[in-house]
Amino acid sequence: METTILIAIGSNRRHGRHGVPENVVRAAMAAMTAAGLRVTASSAIRATAPLGPGGRRFANATVAVESTLPLPVVLARLKAIEAAFGRRGSRRWGDRVLDLDIIGAGSVVLRQKALQVPHPRLHLRRFVLDPLVEIAPDWRHPRLHATVRQLRARAMRPKGRVHVV
Ligand code: ATP
Ligand code: CA
Ligand code: CA
Repeated sequence: METTILIAIGSNRRHGRHGVPENVVRAAMAAMTAAGLRVTASSAIRATAPLGPGGRRFANATVAVESTLPLPVVLARLKAIEAAFGRRGSRRWGDRVLDLDIIGAGSVVLRQKALQVPHPRLHLRRFVLDPLVEIAPDWRHPRLHATVRQLRARAMRPKGRVHVV
């Protein structure tokens, strides 16, 4: 069965051939299509202040992909694309040429260490929610039982926001 898989894209390092992070994000969208992941919607690409030890600005976007592939296979393809873009090491939140995260897939809930869906921090991150509301405002988080539009409104409220990431 074909499901809509929401994917977050981030970059905060130049790529030798593709250039600045914004262009890396654009090239990653094309690479997903080339890898057989049919991109049916994409957000604008925006600049975001860095999070964690990396000191550089990120370019962030989200896409919707239609696929019949199991999610672990999709993740393997995303990791292959990251590797093809020269991502090395895996310091969490560090500088990276390309980061591709599965954000959600319909009502699927997976809680394995190697693959958690919905992404456990998506509701805390404006850099995910802002582009996501452009392409999937009505997707309902199957554990939080709220739509992207509602989660973003919550994340924007200064009070009641306990976490910063
Ligand atoms: P964060 O998860 O907070 O955004 P990160 O993207 O920097 O951090 P990585 O170092 O890129 O973290 O990924 C670490 C591992 O997380 C990956 O090897 C992958 O197996 C696992 N993982 C778990 N859930 C997901 C998911 N929904 N999408 C992508 N990777 C995931
Ligand atoms: Ca990430
Ligand atoms: Ca990641």
